[in-house]
Amino acid sequence: MRKTLPVVFALMVSPTVLAEVVALKGATLIDGSGRAPQQDAVLVVDGERILAAGAPGKVKVPQGARLVDVTGRTIMPGIINAHGHVGLVAGGQNRADAYTRENVQAQLLQYERYGVTSVLTLGLNRDLVYELRDEQRRGGLPGASLFTAGRGIGAPDGAPPVPVAPDQVYRPKTPAEGVADVQEAAAHKPDFLKIWVDDVFGKFPKMQPAIFKAVIEAAHAKGLKVASHIFYLADAKAVIANGVDALAHSVRDRPVDAELVAMMKKRGTFYVATLNVDASFFALADDPALLDDPFLTGALPPESVQQFRSGEYRSKVAADPNVPKARAALENAMRNLKTLRDAGVRIAFGTDSGANPARIPGWAEHRELELMVRAGLSPMDALVAATNGSARMLGASDRGTLQKGKRADFLVLEANPLDDIRNTRKLVSVWHGGREIPPSDVAAAAR
Ligand SMILES: [Zn+2]
Repeated sequence: MRKTLPVVFALMVSPTVLAEVVALKGATLIDGSGRAPQQDAVLVVDGERILAAGAPGKVKVPQGARLVDVTGRTIMPGIINAHGHVGLVAGGQNRADAYTRENVQAQLLQYERYGVTSVLTLGLNRDLVYELRDEQRRGGLPGASLFTAGRGIGAPDGAPPVPVAPDQVYRPKTPAEGVADVQEAAAHKPDFLKIWVDDVFGKFPKMQPAIFKAVIEAAHAKGLKVASHIFYLADAKAVIANGVDALAHSVRDRPVDAELVAMMKKRGTFYVATLNVDASFFALADDPALLDDPFLTGALPPESVQQFRSGEYRSKVAADPNVPKARAALENAMRNLKTLRDAGVRIAFGTDSGANPARIPGWAEHRELELMVRAGLSPMDALVAATNGSARMLGASDRGTLQKGKRADFLVLEANPLDDIRNTRKLVSVWHGGREIPPSDVAAAAR
């Protein structure tokens, strides 16, 4: 009996046992590929995969399929956040002891109910993350699909300036130490690697080029891709010249130039703008009305809502010498995103949500889409970046578009985000691996 119990439990939760064929009919389908939406579409889900998607005359609905009428709704792929964090904030504060199983689990569930069906946790993870990821891939841990860069590699006494425990980030002092750190990380089979190359508004020593060169080389030798935190155009060029695979933030010190464009296009480097990062320094103080939106407050603990509403918070923001720099950085970031998109650079999507209390998992992703459109991208371009773009950066060919054989990760929306990008917030339901997230959870997010 003791031996059979776990097996029985595994069967009960296994998606193959619950598998049914579901046909969602009548929605406008944005499939993530960038092509024009399909009106009155049929989307057939078989277990955790898409069996067919397309025009009503072209898609055969299998007999016995459960029909779901989604007339007037819009369906888009689940959002893929290629730059997020978990386990860094608890009770509205950054804490070195926040990286617990319970906290990570709660944050993955929060992403999922906001329609973020996959997240790459880009550094500052405890090694516990590998355990959780592997458990999830065996079917045992709900929430957004977890991809991870493990600890990540920063600079001694420098970036990232986040209060984490020593086992949450490597800080090599020499190229040889950097290589050893890559090798240790590689043993855990991370989905990406992360490096930080920044002086954080001039405050800290920056990682030496000899170190990031050695780290990127060692990572590639292990078959691992590397994303770099950058701020300055010169650093972006330096890490790309050394083979980095993705920029994890915008270039924010000045306009990008033809040289960067040419480098990124030649090498296929991905660009993740994280406009939310720079906006997070001041948005809630500038625009307290944001805090009247249940879509935002539903993503925050009550103590955070109270804190962001306080005059004390607004005074702190007003006095912060980094805030004017962040405003200028956001302007550069928006202009640069538009330039790079128009030039044909590969755009992925991320928010840095979860890195601190003002970068709010779930809400931040919808806000980022809005900021990308404000930067001049079409709603379609923003949606493609947040789905197929991120999937490509991750090398996750099983997701990102809603086509036959892909994972059934999608959002049903009350209104079309191509008309107004903020309609991504009008969640009717979230489907993740063919499983409909409990409607009450989604309603709590979308209320
Ligand atoms: Zn980050």
